[in-house]
Amino acid sequence: MGRLDGKVAIVTGAARGMGEAEARVFVAEGARVVVCDVLDDEGELVAKALGDHAIFAHLDVANETDWQLVLAAAEHTFGTPDVLVNNAGILRFAPILMMDRTEFDSVLQVNLVGPFLGMKVVGAAMTAAGRGSIVNVSSIGGLIGYSMLGAYVASKWGLRGLTKSAAIEFGKSGVRVNSLHPGGVDTPMANPSGGDLDPTPYLGQPIPRIGRPEEIAQLALFLASDESSFSTGSEFVADGGATAGKDMG
Ligand code: NAD
Repeated sequence: MGRLDGKVAIVTGAARGMGEAEARVFVAEGARVVVCDVLDDEGELVAKALGDHAIFAHLDVANETDWQLVLAAAEHTFGTPDVLVNNAGILRFAPILMMDRTEFDSVLQVNLVGPFLGMKVVGAAMTAAGRGSIVNVSSIGGLIGYSMLGAYVASKWGLRGLTKSAAIEFGKSGVRVNSLHPGGVDTPMANPSGGDLDPTPYLGQPIPRIGRPEEIAQLALFLASDESSFSTGSEFVADGGATAGKDMG
C-alpha cells in the first residue's frame, strides 16, 4: 500500500530539483500528480516519465489565472486536490545596498506571492472538500538570516509566517498547512553547473555534506500524507543540522 494512495497532488516547480523528486516519490507512493512549472519542455518530460499518474500543466506561480487553469486541469483529470506543494522558488544574490527594486520584487512575487495565490485558489477547493495538506517550501533562510540574500530571506520568512496564518484559517475545514525548511541541497539552484561541489561550506554541519533532493522529498511525503495528521502551522527542518548551533570544540 502506498503512503499517498488515492490522493491528488499539485507540485509547483516540479520540472527539476526538489519538485521533481517530490513528484517522483509521490507517484511511487500512489498519488496522482500535476507537475507544474514555467519550464514546459522539462516539465512535460518529468510528467511523461511518470506515466498515467502524472500530467504537466504550465504554471507561473505569480499568475492567478494560471493557478485557476491548473486547478481546473487537476479536477478534470484526477479530481479535487488533496495535496499542494508550493515548491517553486528563485534565488538572487545581491547586498541590500546594491539590490535593485525590480529584483527584490521578483523574488517576492515567486517565493511569497506565488504560494499565497496557490493557497487562495487551491485552498478554496480543499477547504470546500474538507480535507487537504499544503506544504510550503521555505528554507533555513526562513529561520536565520544570510548576507547577500535579503530578498530571498525576506520571502522565506514571509512564507513561514503566511503558513501559520493559513493553518489557523484552514484548520477547522480539515486542511493542514506546514512549512518545510531545507538546508543546502544539490539541485540546479545550489549547483547550476551540476558538477562536483566544493564541500567546504558544509563541513561545519553535524552532517557534513550537501543534501540530496530525495531526502527533502521524503519529508514532503510525510507532510503530504496522513502520517502527519496532527501537525499544522509548524516548521519542519531538513538541513544536516546546519541551524543546530555553533561547534565550540
Ligand atoms: P531549482 O532551481 O532546481 O528548481 C526550482 C523550480 O522552480 C525550477 O524548475 C523553476 O523553473 C521553477 N520556477 C521558478 N520560477 C517559477 C515560477 N514563477 N512559476 C513556476 N515555477 C517556477 O531549485 P530547488 O533547489 O529545487 O528549489 C526548490 C525549493 O526549495 C525553492 O523554493 C527553494 O527556494 C527551496 N530551497 C532550496 C535550497 C537548495 O539548496 N537547493 C535550500 C533551501 C530551500
